[in-house]
Amino acid sequence: MAADCTHPVGFIPPGPVESKDWNQKLADFIAVVDDFNVRGQRDQINHPGFVTEFNFCPYCRHPIDRTGLLTYTQAFDHYHAAKAKG
Ligand SMILES: [Zn+2]
Repeated sequence: MAADCTHPVGFIPPGPVESKDWNQKLADFIAVVDDFNVRGQRDQINHPGFVTEFNFCPYCRHPIDRTGLLTYTQAFDHYHAAKAKG
């Protein structure tokens, strides 16, 4: 395995994301998806793509510890709970 591998923990468009950035980038991406779901009904905007959560590093196959990393569903729930509060 490469000694300098950063072990990305998942893919959030447009690229792989490291553990330290995951929860923030996931939250940001969910805001983009929510915007697409609202505006995409009437405006021509591209589908934002899909999140993939890795269980193994795609580069070196190191097992990924997802402790403390939100799932898409959890982040989605947080986003809508925050939005409902205003
Ligand atoms: Zn790795």
